[in-house]
Amino acid sequence: MTSTAEILAQDSHLIQSFADLNALKAQGARTVISRAEGAHVYDNEGHRMIDGIAGLWCVNIGHGRQEMIDAITEQLRQLDYYSTFYNFTHPTAAALSEKLASLAPGDLNAVYFGNSGSVANDSAIRILHHYNIRKGRPNKLKVLSRHGAYHGSTHLAMAITTPAYSEGWTAASDLVHHLRAPHFWREGEGMSEAEFLDALAGELTDSIEQIGAENICAFIAEPIQGAGGVITAPAGYHRRMQEICRANDIKYIADEVVTAFGRLGHFFASEAVFDTTPDIINTAKGLTSGYQPMSATIVSDEIHDVISGPDGMFLHGMNYSGHPAAAAAALTNIAIMEREGIPERVRTTGAYFERKLRGLADLELVGEVRGSHFMMGIEFVKDRATKASHPAEAEVGLKVARACQKRGLVARPLGNVLILSPTLIMDEPMIDEIEGILREAITEIA
Ligand code: PLP
Repeated sequence: MTSTAEILAQDSHLIQSFADLNALKAQGARTVISRAEGAHVYDNEGHRMIDGIAGLWCVNIGHGRQEMIDAITEQLRQLDYYSTFYNFTHPTAAALSEKLASLAPGDLNAVYFGNSGSVANDSAIRILHHYNIRKGRPNKLKVLSRHGAYHGSTHLAMAITTPAYSEGWTAASDLVHHLRAPHFWREGEGMSEAEFLDALAGELTDSIEQIGAENICAFIAEPIQGAGGVITAPAGYHRRMQEICRANDIKYIADEVVTAFGRLGHFFASEAVFDTTPDIINTAKGLTSGYQPMSATIVSDEIHDVISGPDGMFLHGMNYSGHPAAAAAALTNIAIMEREGIPERVRTTGAYFERKLRGLADLELVGEVRGSHFMMGIEFVKDRATKASHPAEAEVGLKVARACQKRGLVARPLGNVLILSPTLIMDEPMIDEIEGILREAITEIA
């Protein structure tokens, strides 16, 4: 086995994602994960930890499933690679597109495959640009997004992400207008929740009026903002926003990269949880439970009909769109979820997880516990009465995450927020263990 010292020496050549690269130069600042099994991961010294973030909200069915490994291996034996360019296709991508069409709500029946959430979001917007150009509306290109959103790191996906991440500029910044984050606890000061919802709806209507509906192709939203700190909107928000979009001929894109494939107790959350039928749903992560990189942009029949009309090519393509091994992983992942009733089980276990974590709100350091089922965030504050935040330099989230790791739980710090998004195979004793570790770790840092 390669020693941790050797791995860290090699790793000095690796540029990590969303990291303080300078801080990572310090000895011991990085964690080497070498093995994983079920709901647990192991560091290079063999310490076992509960994977409280499922890799990166990915590994929904748990780590190390032999059935997944066998399906991917068998697919590689049969057909290692072929593209879906021009007139080529292959059985596994075809079967997966049909399966996703059957699981997706409404008339979302056509699928464009990519290899990441960023590409899924880019593809959705490019598809809508094709759609509007075909319809003779070449100026209907702008996108409405929200502060607090995270949609990926390509220039287009980063442009629709909260400006806080792009440090103010991307090549596509002119294409985007950001609305307020729907975070009642932070943004709704002095208002009732209903008044806050009215204010958000009013802001959308005003923005459409100012920019002009003829210039806007889409509104994009995560059902629950994930990397923005697990922000849940007031009840009825998504439905209300969709109605305003529909009335203005603006397409509604749901970024379900995190929320799909069981995390909130359903294959897709848009319709089942949030009472909306988007025009496009984007998904990745839980689609293959992270065993292979894959994303899907699932579009309505109406959009598909226009982009597959008689006048011209669909000029968009990625080498690995519908990659056979990734498609095999997705089909097997879905089969496991259906056979074991994972989304249904999450409605009970996820609700228990949410309840247990909400119980941590009694701790002095905790300002708000929020989220739903297996998608939870805990925000730490300096002063519970004023909701005053700790300064970034205090690194409170990071300190709590380290205190958790010491006790055998991997959690994800995001500024003053700690994210918990474990595998979906948690049972009550394991959830109790997570809650116990969190309670001790938060108390230690307070
Ligand atoms: N959309 C959402 C909601 C995400 O959380 C993420 C990543 O975490 C992305 C898109 C981007 O996905 P990827 O990192 O696979 O490009």
